[in-house]
Amino acid sequence: MSLLYVKITEKPLALKICDTYFRNYCHGVRENHMSKILGLEGTAWNLSAAIVDENEVIAETTATYKPATGGIHPREAAQHHANNVSDVVMKTLEKGGRNVNAVAFSQGPGLGPCLRTVATAARALALTLDVPLIGVNHCIAHVEVGIWRTAARDPVTLYVSGANSQVLAYRKGRYRVFGETLDIGIGNALDKFGRFAGLAHPGGPKVEELAKKAARYIPLPYTVKGMDFSFSGLTTAAQESLKKNDLPDVCHSFQETAFAMLVEVTERAVAHTEKKEVLLAGGVGANTRLQEMLRIMCEDRGIRFYVPEKRFMGDNGAMIAYLGLLMYRAGYRTALSDSRVNPNYRPDDAEVVWR
Ligand code: AMP
Ligand code: MG
Repeated sequence: MSLLYVKITEKPLALKICDTYFRNYCHGVRENHMSKILGLEGTAWNLSAAIVDENEVIAETTATYKPATGGIHPREAAQHHANNVSDVVMKTLEKGGRNVNAVAFSQGPGLGPCLRTVATAARALALTLDVPLIGVNHCIAHVEVGIWRTAARDPVTLYVSGANSQVLAYRKGRYRVFGETLDIGIGNALDKFGRFAGLAHPGGPKVEELAKKAARYIPLPYTVKGMDFSFSGLTTAAQESLKKNDLPDVCHSFQETAFAMLVEVTERAVAHTEKKEVLLAGGVGANTRLQEMLRIMCEDRGIRFYVPEKRFMGDNGAMIAYLGLLMYRAGYRTALSDSRVNPNYRPDDAEVVWR
């Protein structure tokens, strides 16, 4: 199978014909039979394809972009995805079978060049396999895969990843954003600080390890404004602090300060919504100190706390396939003319048709 590369800038005749083809699927009928969905993720550093059904991940193949120096370079990451997407998809289809009901892909948010590369592959794949296309919101995929893989049902979710940091909860047809970062995501903040301190990308896990060796806490700027938080001032202050203090102490203090901000806002969202569950999602959720702080807060309030397996926390193809499956079963389809990527796609922009 060869993947054709279609650049969606204006709408040529071929795409109008494809639109008619895709609209044939847009009938809004709920599917009750067992479905199998192929999902493609590639919003930033991780290119991943997976096939899931209602019960399990049938196949998953991943190719990770590792920058030679510095952080993620969007054009290089997109080139990595373009070089590897055929291989990743073919391996997944060989293992999971070609008889999928739809192709789901991350429509946003994410890095524009990466999103466009993977969306182009998803369009070509849907046409080749003769199945509908489903564009999914990447943030919501993190939440839904967490609900799928734990006993959570209707949680307040703390979603913490490289580019995004949000407190989300479902209310009246949407995942509402109760609080979010005013500047950079907590993962990017940890990675940026790590690079400054001479740690290789990604810095987050290395900061966690160094923090365990700390001898003391150093006060750093704590910024919660209303229900929102901010990490760039904290990152600069932590970098400055390295001039006078030991790296493990600064790593520990950075984590304690940033995670306390996240836990404070999550707790206030719980108090406001009166929900009885907290779910942790996103790559930074692998941090055991953040998990511990959230667990203490939840125990104190007498509510349940859920953390999915680590493989479902960072960006992965299974989460895209699973949200695609929920949307497919609810009758949702993405016409080719609506499949343009949106690097700023907010979770509260997406209508929740599957709950
Ligand atoms: P995601 O964008 O959801 O794939 O998450 C990637 C981010 O998670 C990167 O910024 C990593 O540094 C961060 N990360 C991964 N593991 C850890 C950890 N144990 N502690 C803190 N951050 C982490
Ligand atoms: Mg993510």
